[in-house]
Amino acid sequence: MSVSDYIPVIGLEIHSELLTKSKVFCTCSAEFGGDKNSRCCPVCSGLPGTLPVINQTAVEYAVKAGYALGCSINKFSVFDRKNYFYPDLPKAYQISQLNLPLCINGNVPIEYEENGEKKSKNIRINRIHLEEDAGKLIHDDLNGVSLADYNRCGIPLIEIVTEPDISSAEEARTLVEKISLLLQYAGVSDCKMEQGSIRCDVNISLMKPTDKEFGTRAEIKNLNSLKSIYRTIEYEIKRQARLLDRGERIVQETRRYDDNKGETRTMRTKEDAHDYKYFPDPDILQVNFTDEDLDRIRNSLPEMPYQRLDKYINVYKIPEKEARIIVNNKRLSDLFENALKVYNNPKSLANFVNGEIMRRMNLGEIDIEAPAFTAEEAAKLVQMSDTEKVTKNDAKEIFREMAEKGGDPEEIAKQRGMLIVTDTGKVNEVIDKVIAANEKAVNQYKSGDVKVFGFLMGQCSKELRGAATPKVIKEELEKKLKSL
Ligand code: ADP
Ligand code: MG
Ligand code: ZN
Repeated sequence: MSVSDYIPVIGLEIHSELLTKSKVFCTCSAEFGGDKNSRCCPVCSGLPGTLPVINQTAVEYAVKAGYALGCSINKFSVFDRKNYFYPDLPKAYQISQLNLPLCINGNVPIEYEENGEKKSKNIRINRIHLEEDAGKLIHDDLNGVSLADYNRCGIPLIEIVTEPDISSAEEARTLVEKISLLLQYAGVSDCKMEQGSIRCDVNISLMKPTDKEFGTRAEIKNLNSLKSIYRTIEYEIKRQARLLDRGERIVQETRRYDDNKGETRTMRTKEDAHDYKYFPDPDILQVNFTDEDLDRIRNSLPEMPYQRLDKYINVYKIPEKEARIIVNNKRLSDLFENALKVYNNPKSLANFVNGEIMRRMNLGEIDIEAPAFTAEEAAKLVQMSDTEKVTKNDAKEIFREMAEKGGDPEEIAKQRGMLIVTDTGKVNEVIDKVIAANEKAVNQYKSGDVKVFGFLMGQCSKELRGAATPKVIKEELEKKLKSL
């Protein structure tokens, strides 16, 4: 059989750090970074005799994530201890949730293109639970030691578990992007893959079209980029197909992806849930939500990407393709929304965002996470260009400077002599002068030779640089010539 004769069955476990100020069971800072082991206390470094206290914001963020992904919320929810020994986990158990997670039964629609064809699909979410992150191990191969940094211990983490509804690398990548976007809009996670604030385990098996049951799966742990998720899946599909073709069995195991080699390798045979000897954590209060609690949390969700998309297309009348590009980048969309507050011209601003801003983002001249210019400044520039206070070309030039170091566009235009101030007195004065000096051309024009208009216009423009727009000069000159 060839690879394409198998149907890939894929489920993801997505871990995402929540944006709370403090950790989930103590008051240590949950911020990324910091000097090694500087953000730890007896609770998160697992000293005996300490008592964890649950961070209410973390619970509410997890519920918000649940609503963002279309889940039902369990009104009654319990925390469990997941027991295992590993040096990044000083307590030797992780506080997590097994049977009664906060959120269940969600649904995330994805849209993507495959071979030029538009496709859409719903991926079901099995559950979302709240747990604590573990520390970080730094392996120093040179000196043959491993060092532990416990700053990350106790950072609140949600684990999102999908049903095995995914059937390709492209679908998996699209789903992770979509979930990241929803979590960012919900305001619960920044989903920065490069900082490890969202990580993914891929579960994958193959089945033949005639099979009644799923095949045995491999689990590839801790993927931290969209590219590695994609490449892992492509690699695993081929690896498993080759084994099955030879009549061999797939071993249920945990594998590791090697980014340099682009392949996966055995890490350990997979443990089952009972190996962790889960039991309810006796130190942590159970969660009991009232209907009012849940209503309040649901109503605190900000505008979500599908709502913005609908508004852009149906209210602002922005073409769908452009609208999607803006919405699919939360920072870009926020910038657009803020710019609209200053200059209420959605079409023109959308053009600018999709044109100049995107172009310079792609060139690496704008870091949309921390742009040098503000939304207000960008809006002002677009308005100046629309009202012909600067020419379209000069607007681009001004924006090049703003993208680099920010600044008020009007100030920049003034400094660089690009600001057009229409001075009607001056316009008429110059027109009169040009007409007086070019009697022959004026007579030609009056006898029907309209070609000379361009010449007269050019004479006026030369003297009026910066004092009027070409449109104004043209109108005034035409008026004057007609009245002669
Ligand atoms: P565990 O806790 O052992 O990781 P779960 O039952 O929670 O196992 O499932 C983990 C993930 O594996 C889920 O995303 C699920 O959809 C996926 N999954 C389960 N069975 C299969 C299978 N046969 N092939 C591929 N993925 C699977
Ligand atoms: Mg798992
Ligand atoms: Zn702590």
